[in-house]
Amino acid sequence: MNQKIIRKNLAFDFDDVVCNTVRAFLAFHKEKYGRTVPYASVGTKLYKNLGISKKTEDNRWDEFFKDPKFCYPAPTKDLAKNLRLMKKKYRLLLLSARDYRWQYQIKAWIKKYLPDIFAQIIFIDNGRTKKSKGSVCRRNKTVALIEDEPEHIKSCLTFHAPVIVFDRPWNRNIKKSIPRIRTLARLKKVLPPLN
Ligand SMILES: [Mg+2]
Repeated sequence: MNQKIIRKNLAFDFDDVVCNTVRAFLAFHKEKYGRTVPYASVGTKLYKNLGISKKTEDNRWDEFFKDPKFCYPAPTKDLAKNLRLMKKKYRLLLLSARDYRWQYQIKAWIKKYLPDIFAQIIFIDNGRTKKSKGSVCRRNKTVALIEDEPEHIKSCLTFHAPVIVFDRPWNRNIKKSIPRIRTLARLKKVLPPLN
């Protein structure tokens, strides 16, 4: 009997899960403005770490994204391997809150480094409105979203969508009862069993 296997959706955040964006931004900031902070000390409000205003931080992110030298850090060596393993069992989604103006960079990055991994790229910002990641996960019945940003982790909790915290210095206050991984190699240990 020819039975079609329907794989469940598993979602990954892009910035600071698939791509080390903040680390690259700190390198840019050091070169351009002569100031950086240790990665391990970065909190949810980077502008406070850097001693600048929120508006100045936003402007500097725009400068960063305009500079292809910095904003496309290559993936870590184990990333593609681990994503490929996951792809055998799940339908992989990339779910990003990236500002509408800079979304093309994510598409270009994926095309360059991981062209055969994700079944779909979903952006929650369409230039006019912004959905929550929790609602998108709920609609797609995702097995989990792997996410670093507290705001999106909380939206998953609100929508009862399973979420796995990708350990970063700025999310250490998220409650301990939520599964947490430091590397994607650990992902299979915390995903629910497939049935
Ligand atoms: Mg992120």
